[in-house]
Amino acid sequence: MSTESTNLETIAIHGSMKDNPSPNEPVVPGIELSTIYEHRTDGIREEDWKYTRAGNPNRSQLEKVLASLEGGDNAAAFSSGVAAITSVFQAMNSGSHILVPDDVYFGTRMLVLDFAERWGLEVDFVDMTNPSTVEQALKANTAMIWVETPSNPLLQITDVAKMCTLAKKHGAIVAVDNTWPTPFNMQPFGLGADVVIHSTTKYLGGHSDILGGAVIVKQNEELFQKIRKIQITQGAVPSSFDSWLLARSIRSFPLRMRVHNENAGKMAAFLNEHPKVREVFYPGLESHPGHEIAKAQMSGFGGMISFLIEGDEADALKIVHGTKIVTAATSLGGIESIWEHRRSTEGERSVAPKDLIRFSVGLEHIDDLIADVEQALDK
Ligand SMILES: *Cc1c(COP(=O)(O)O)cnc(C)c1O
Repeated sequence: MSTESTNLETIAIHGSMKDNPSPNEPVVPGIELSTIYEHRTDGIREEDWKYTRAGNPNRSQLEKVLASLEGGDNAAAFSSGVAAITSVFQAMNSGSHILVPDDVYFGTRMLVLDFAERWGLEVDFVDMTNPSTVEQALKANTAMIWVETPSNPLLQITDVAKMCTLAKKHGAIVAVDNTWPTPFNMQPFGLGADVVIHSTTKYLGGHSDILGGAVIVKQNEELFQKIRKIQITQGAVPSSFDSWLLARSIRSFPLRMRVHNENAGKMAAFLNEHPKVREVFYPGLESHPGHEIAKAQMSGFGGMISFLIEGDEADALKIVHGTKIVTAATSLGGIESIWEHRRSTEGERSVAPKDLIRFSVGLEHIDDLIADVEQALDK
């Protein structure tokens, strides 16, 4: 069934089901594992499935629902979030200048530091909480502003609409890594963005058992064709099984997000009052410097919190290993609560504060979560 609805709960469930099923068809699409398709006797048509790397029904269903959730025109699914990010950087002409936030997902930073120059791209890291800093950093050859808000790991807020206005005046595009807010909490195309990127490994997958990524484009067919070409010819595509599993997970994603928002809001308020906690970074707190902008561009503040503790690295590590329900692990967006000492995870090149704990608040009962965190902090 395809849907005309603009409500995420309906799109998420019906946006990847079969179009116009014939009578007595299965309601839920199956997994098509064949990598090859029989040729027609009267010749291969453009729209025919041919070979699974170029396209298959499961990936196509997934791409359709991803585009609908973001209100975009087209989506390309990738085998990981970083493969999706890579495709957007590689779609830029060599000689282009790109602005990236100075607080950005570690993998994006590594990609830029290790590969941008080799791809002929010039990249500057800037403080994107301040539009005038961004304006001053624009150059004649600036082709893209890369936005991540709330940023990782400091949950800084960037005004997406302001970045889009600046970029448009300059003939550049705005790409938003919408992994953390998700389309449930923020709709970048409505704010003027040109491209949305996801690590679907996180909230869209939601169960810490699928690796995936996506690029969604609105009103820029030329850019989308470049992304599509990179997806198919470089081949970092998800398997049919992963595409099927992700489409399945997406059907419950809007409902999961409600509880992530609610639990993280309560957890942030608890941490904010705790004497062992020095500072909490959560855009839902009124004390957060980006709260007003976040409130204007997001409909919920998400499930991620970072906080600084009173103490050093050893104290932070003791706290993250002192819980019974919250697991010490990296990544985010799963139904289970996990947290980590971010600097240890990122390693030598990390710029994360030494006393920072990054918390992905899950869907367990909030009373159990707060009791678990409290006993770990009080130990
Ligand atoms: C995890 C993450 C990525 C990378 O995604 P992978 O699926 O791990 O490759 C990119 N951006 C953000 C904001 C992330 O949290």
